[in-house]
Amino acid sequence: MNDVKLESILAKFDLKIAQLNALNYASSMMFWDASTGAPKSGVEARSRAVGVLSGFYHSISTDCEFKEILDQLELHKADLSQEQNALRKHFQKEYNKISKIPAAEYEAFQSHISTSAMVWEQAKENANFEQFKPYLETTIETLKKFASYRGYEGHPYNLYIDDFEPGMTVSQLNQFFETLKSRLVPLLNQIRAKQKPDKGFLKQSYAIGKQKEIAEMLLDCIGFDRQRGMFEESVHPFTMGVAIDDVRLTSHYYEKDLLSAMLSSVHEGGHGIYEQNVDHKLSGTPLATGASNGFHESQSRIYENNFFKSDAFMAFLFPILQEKYPENLESITYETFFKAVNCVEPSLIRIEADELTYALHILVRYELELGLISGTQSVAELPKAWYDKMEQYLGVVPMNHSEGVLQDVHWSEALFGYFPTYALGSAYAAQLCYYMKKEINVDQQLRKGDFGPLTKWLNEKVHQYGALYEPTELIEKITGETLNVNYYCDYLEQKYKKLYDL
Ligand code: ZN
Repeated sequence: MNDVKLESILAKFDLKIAQLNALNYASSMMFWDASTGAPKSGVEARSRAVGVLSGFYHSISTDCEFKEILDQLELHKADLSQEQNALRKHFQKEYNKISKIPAAEYEAFQSHISTSAMVWEQAKENANFEQFKPYLETTIETLKKFASYRGYEGHPYNLYIDDFEPGMTVSQLNQFFETLKSRLVPLLNQIRAKQKPDKGFLKQSYAIGKQKEIAEMLLDCIGFDRQRGMFEESVHPFTMGVAIDDVRLTSHYYEKDLLSAMLSSVHEGGHGIYEQNVDHKLSGTPLATGASNGFHESQSRIYENNFFKSDAFMAFLFPILQEKYPENLESITYETFFKAVNCVEPSLIRIEADELTYALHILVRYELELGLISGTQSVAELPKAWYDKMEQYLGVVPMNHSEGVLQDVHWSEALFGYFPTYALGSAYAAQLCYYMKKEINVDQQLRKGDFGPLTKWLNEKVHQYGALYEPTELIEKITGETLNVNYYCDYLEQKYKKLYDL
């Protein structure tokens, strides 16, 4: 192909990308608006508009013109830049995912998912698994059928994990979770035999106005640029990277919980810093985001857990909090405060879990969803299996299905393969932190409340690349080795052995 022809194909490709980006942009605005104060009465009109936009997205990204562009680009991949090739692969993957499934079956499944999500909400409210069961059965059967259409190597679950964590496989995950189980379950048992720290004071009344001031101070401190973003309130905190220079975060404030808003602000701040620091050359493309769900989660967790909850940073923050809330914290010692922040307490609800037991909540979900897709776990027996695994790994059992098998939204939306990325995120975070500490005195920085060099290190090593590399390539590029779960287990062991005097 001559240069002129390639140039014209690339121009068409750029135009398609710009169109798809504009549709995403519009849908994002609607979601942001709906989550931060738009009237509930507008929900129907908005859903219709969102439906139309996603229809446009689907038809542009799967039409024969787009397929022709992708085919042409593949023929000339040697002449393309690294970014162009990464984009080509991104859209080719999206195309394959959808085009191999008969259109009528694909559409029927989309409509099944929206009903399933509504039924799940009611079932959760009524703690009634039977109500949700047939929908979950259909979801599993359909996912298995779609896997056979799409084609896979090894295990059908490989496809679904790859949708969220490109390159990850069942055999890698099995090893990952086996190590977690063998190292963290015994550690938790040792901790459970110890006396629980006092943390009642964290649930006293803390004026919300001051909580907001602290959350903003923390975002500034870790390096989220509020001039190039927004920080609002919503029921469930989230981050939305609308564009590199327009990154929006939310938090939620509870008067009777000092920690919740601080933790969620720092967590979302970590996601936001990632989105804000992608290289501008990837701007307006689907590469202007994290390398994967797991990598994105590594950035929120490194700020929330490895940095924020560390002894070094807590020692910096505690006097500031004491000054804000003298009536609550004047008589509390630093040691009591630090132990309360890092208290380990097995509980039933994943999103309220502490840093150690969180990983075990994910282990429960991974083993169950792998069993469901493999066909070794029936939907009918799922509540019992949930109960047994919670007892075995965490030592607590649900009294009803709302606080058990029905607690998470993921399965109702057919998001299989998503849960493992939460644990992968913490593991990437621990590995990155280990290597960062070889170059930077992290504790010394945190003790001063100065995140500057830490955020800069992450900007250079992780953020700038966006989704240019697959997560497996990126972690190896930064640390010289593939993902190694032992850094995560070592980190947790060291932290909690010291805290609990084991
Ligand atoms: Zn997150």
